[in-house]
Amino acid sequence: MANEKSTVILGGGIIGLSIAYYTSLSSPITHITIVDSASILLESASGYAGGFLARDWFDPRVAALGDYSFTLHRELAEQFDGAKRWGFTGSHVYSLTLDDAPGGVSGEDWLLAGTSRANAVGRMVTQHVNAPGEGVNADGTPAWISKQDKASWKPIAGVEDCGQVEPRRLCEFLLEKCKERGIKILLGKRAVDIVRKRGGGIEGLMIENAGKSEGSKEEQFLKCTDIVIAAGCWTPRVFNTLFPSARISLDIDSLAGHSILYRTPRYAQPFKNIAKGQLDKAHGKDEHISYAIYCPPTKQWDWSGEAYARLNADSKPEIWSGGLNHTSTQLPLPELATDSKKLIKPECMKSLRKAAVTLTGLRVSDSSEPATDDIEIVSEHLCFRPASKSGVPILGEVAARDLGKGFGEGGGAKVWVAGGHGPWGISMSLGTGKVMRDLMAGTKPEVDVSALKVVEGAPLSKL
Ligand SMILES: Cc1cc2nc3c(=O)[nH]c(=O)nc-3n(C[C@H](O)[C@H](O)[C@H](O)COP(=O)(O)OP(=O)(O)OC[C@H]3O[C@@H](n4cnc5c(N)ncnc54)[C@H](O)[C@@H]3O)c2cc1C
Repeated sequence: MANEKSTVILGGGIIGLSIAYYTSLSSPITHITIVDSASILLESASGYAGGFLARDWFDPRVAALGDYSFTLHRELAEQFDGAKRWGFTGSHVYSLTLDDAPGGVSGEDWLLAGTSRANAVGRMVTQHVNAPGEGVNADGTPAWISKQDKASWKPIAGVEDCGQVEPRRLCEFLLEKCKERGIKILLGKRAVDIVRKRGGGIEGLMIENAGKSEGSKEEQFLKCTDIVIAAGCWTPRVFNTLFPSARISLDIDSLAGHSILYRTPRYAQPFKNIAKGQLDKAHGKDEHISYAIYCPPTKQWDWSGEAYARLNADSKPEIWSGGLNHTSTQLPLPELATDSKKLIKPECMKSLRKAAVTLTGLRVSDSSEPATDDIEIVSEHLCFRPASKSGVPILGEVAARDLGKGFGEGGGAKVWVAGGHGPWGISMSLGTGKVMRDLMAGTKPEVDVSALKVVEGAPLSKL
């Protein structure tokens, strides 16, 4: 049929999956294929991230997308029982500053100055004061954090504007829906070349086996009307492989982050949402809540910690802890996401565990002894944030003439980019998916993302 489109999405992280999911809901019929170079999906940031969601912590250029995406997270969770399936909850947020933190630094200072959530926080939301209840101490502090001598606490945001998900489970849900809707998933494959029509336009792309199976390359041609590059930190590599003479560059670097997932006896039961039943509140239907803690460096560790007490599928409590980061110059991006594990630094895991014990280990009341290590590590990870130079994601079409010599003539498939979500790709995923769907369909997105578009090369006349 003349109206049918066929879209190839390069990258099956949360951004590629969200684009595929929302595009598959639209009409006219679109045939969608996701191509990923890894042999297993979700070995990237999307599978190992913290899963913290915010409505309005963003740079003004991305504020509308952030708000939109936060609303979509709640809507999707309500539609498909996200609370049970991917641990969707509203989240209380605290800053915690230990007494040995370097002078004058508080938990939210580093958030604003930006390390882990680099340059991302536009403004902190209004003070949120938590009411005592299950999982909460009499002073309003979360009971899963052990008693901290001379520490200062500050509630910085609440369940109305913040939330959490188990990102791997959310991705698995999106993947399941994509498969149900007939989307093809090709794993262990990478796009190596563009196939052009006689007039110069793009007819499709060639893919071949990725990684070590070079011996049998098994080239395959994928004809398409749209190509979306959504490969996280690998986005520039994919773009440069396909368009070596492009007139633009995509400035997305990688910021590596170690993290751990663990359990503690102090968070054995989910925290009940004491506002449940108050239907005038968005979170009035939620059974449970989660907690996020932000903590500046101390004498014991020199990085800015973040700990998320969240729920896994079937409402099982777990704590994700991270904040220990390295730029790409210190930890280079591997060729395949599945190779990231080999780069894990044991000393980083030790440091994360130490911080986890200090914050949540067993501590006898009124004792001056340090906390005892009674935590159970579930898993250890290293993954890479796609950090754009501009500090905001890059979303939109690459002008044909910017793809390189001769691409501007003859029509053919369009090329799109959706990458560089930095520390906020989980939060912005659903909004990105829907916006990209609209852009590709030629309809106006519900939010203005013009500040995020691919920067065009200089006019040809000036070259
Ligand atoms: C430690 C850490 C904690 C985080 N915590 C949060 C958080 O709490 N909240 C939040 O909102 N965000 C968080 N983030 C950020 C978030 O995880 C990322 O922004 C998001 O996952 C990026 O998704 P993506 O799909 O763009 O990239 P990725 O998840 O990296 O996926 C890219 C995919 O592209 C594939 N690929 C690579 N090369 C090719 C190729 N040549 N061809 C085809 N496919 C290819 C990879 O195999 C991978 O599957 C965190 C990130 C890190 C590292």
